[in-house]
Amino acid sequence: MDPPRLGSAHRILSALDTDEQVLRFVEAITSDVASIQSELLQQILADNADVAYFHRHGLFGVPSAEDFHSRLPLISYQDIELDVARIASGDEDGHAKILSGTSGGRQKLFPKLSDYDPEFLVLNRVARAALNRQGPFNTGKSLHFIYVRNPEVTPGGVKLSSGLSGYFTSPAFRNRKIDPATSYTSPDQVLQCVDYIQANYCHLLCGLVQRDQVVSVGSVFASTFVRSLKSLKCQWRDICQDIAEGAVNSRIVTSLPVRNAVNAILRPDIELADAIRKECCGGNWRGIVRRLWPEARLVQTIITGTMQQYVSIIDMLTDGLPIASSLYASSECSSLGVNLDPVCPPSEVLYTLFPCFAYFEFLPLENRLSAPDEDQGQEERSFVSCDNLVKLADVKVGDEYELVLTTKAGLYRYRVGDILKVVKFHNDAPQFAFVRRAGVLLSVDMDKTDELELHKAVTQAWNRHQEHSEIRLVDYTSRVDLSSQPGHYIIYWEAFPDPQILELDVCCFELEESLSVVYRRNRREGSVGPLEIKLVRQGTFDKIMDHVVQNGGASYGQYKTPRCAKDPKVVSILESSVIAKGQARYMQTST
Ligand code: AMP
Repeated sequence: MDPPRLGSAHRILSALDTDEQVLRFVEAITSDVASIQSELLQQILADNADVAYFHRHGLFGVPSAEDFHSRLPLISYQDIELDVARIASGDEDGHAKILSGTSGGRQKLFPKLSDYDPEFLVLNRVARAALNRQGPFNTGKSLHFIYVRNPEVTPGGVKLSSGLSGYFTSPAFRNRKIDPATSYTSPDQVLQCVDYIQANYCHLLCGLVQRDQVVSVGSVFASTFVRSLKSLKCQWRDICQDIAEGAVNSRIVTSLPVRNAVNAILRPDIELADAIRKECCGGNWRGIVRRLWPEARLVQTIITGTMQQYVSIIDMLTDGLPIASSLYASSECSSLGVNLDPVCPPSEVLYTLFPCFAYFEFLPLENRLSAPDEDQGQEERSFVSCDNLVKLADVKVGDEYELVLTTKAGLYRYRVGDILKVVKFHNDAPQFAFVRRAGVLLSVDMDKTDELELHKAVTQAWNRHQEHSEIRLVDYTSRVDLSSQPGHYIIYWEAFPDPQILELDVCCFELEESLSVVYRRNRREGSVGPLEIKLVRQGTFDKIMDHVVQNGGASYGQYKTPRCAKDPKVVSILESSVIAKGQARYMQTST
């Protein structure tokens, strides 16, 4: 039986047994994009008929697709904050629960139908079939760094749970069919442990005691993977002792159920402890993943968008293991798309949006007057017209768009803030490169530097100096300093394994040279001051992650480094960790 192209994810999933069935399903839904999208829109409109949001826009009963397109405006988070607050207060409109997300550096809450999205399981199943098509990557265990947080409840009694945590703490995960081809090295008690430090320690310990079975390593986002591995530097001594003794350290792992579950897979193994000690004690981190997990053939983690900066450190730590960046997902809708060619080079990753998951529209880049995360008044935001929105089946190769979503759970024409570029089509489904998050990060005068421009400039400046050394840029962020005139950009860098005295003044010069023509003109004319680079102590970005996670509602697994530091606490963590700085002392006189 072929799986249905549309309908409940549970029904679809139950028909996706073999990889062959999964790939047939992919062929079917990518061959009929326009009609699946139009059927899905009708289904969403019927399921949500008569919600207050529709009434507010003059739509009663079941709106038609024409009404939807002509009456409903394009919205950003600010436009629905009051609605979200109302749902959170328990005054439910429609059938929403709440889910938290973090993009844009602050907590956002989105309506959700259940604790986790079953569509996310469809996405994962497709990703696995696509991977299996490219090689025997799923024949052993996966050391996956998964971190969840406790679901919270609003004062109105509505559950808050982040996308990943929602699934890993759900009965659906606990009662899942254990597939020997995709099992984790960590027991469920570790995967569901809400304490980051204990979970991180146990992931490493369990992964190391089963090292010969580990065929893939990873985490959802690359930043989490890098942080988890870096922690080995401080933890390998305790881990080796636990392996030698065959019992987990009860001072580090204080949770009894977690300890019991980990102890159940330990037995004293002095030989293994010695082998691991030998690899870790010399401080040589190049290729540590291949040396500790000799059977590992793949890294599974998202390395596009803001995560692309971790590719180089992952390459160094894994000695070039292939990276599968399989999933494109977001709290707004959980499941957006899959990379159908997962073991491609990082620069070639494309995501195919699944027409059965959400109703997708696209705002051509030239029609974007302002980005959703920018601080603007209502008037300016609502000025962005819906007239030029393009449907999924009608986007053009080579064009860039901002993604606009209508979801089954009740987001209507919502600007996600992701800029995507159409690179090619698979059947009639467009395949997108993730370009960047929308929005200007840095601006002092007429200059406007976005995430991608900053990323390119930072990477170029770093590579010129450190490409052939063992030192890798672990993370970076930036801000504008207007406390002195003229204002200027500050870029913060953290290096691994050991911060080295870099020629920071020269790096500043090169970074400026890689910024836009407008920036350089402003610099020459003196309306923008000389850029500064500040090298921060190791562990600074971990502290920022702790702060953001503890105050922002995301789980560690979903965290993304804010590329522009706006939160005063984040700025103070950065400033108190500076160990060296440089400033652009001169500028080239012509562009
Ligand atoms: P969150 O709000 O925490 O659910 O994060 C969702 C956001 O993460 C998306 O809107 C994207 O900006 C980013 N994201 C998710 N998947 C990818 C991906 N595969 N590549 C680049 N960015 C991604």
